[in-house]
Amino acid sequence: MENKRFEISLKCLFCGCELQGDTEKEFSSGDMLECQECGELNDYDALIDVAADEGKEVAAKYAKEEIERMLKKALK
Ligand SMILES: [Zn+2]
Repeated sequence: MENKRFEISLKCLFCGCELQGDTEKEFSSGDMLECQECGELNDYDALIDVAADEGKEVAAKYAKEEIERMLKKALK
């Protein structure tokens, strides 16, 4: 089984733009991330929740595509 990595980005809960995380700093539960676009503070835990949901969707979509491809191959 191939190992596939998913790129999940953290998006501002207010304006939807991608949050540029400060690479020098490690964020952890309870932290607030300031959006560089709108200046709103995003709750880290909420962001992780959203990203986790997004990740599940991406994984489900990928799995479906893989299954479809395998079925197509099997039918040839
Ligand atoms: Zn924003």
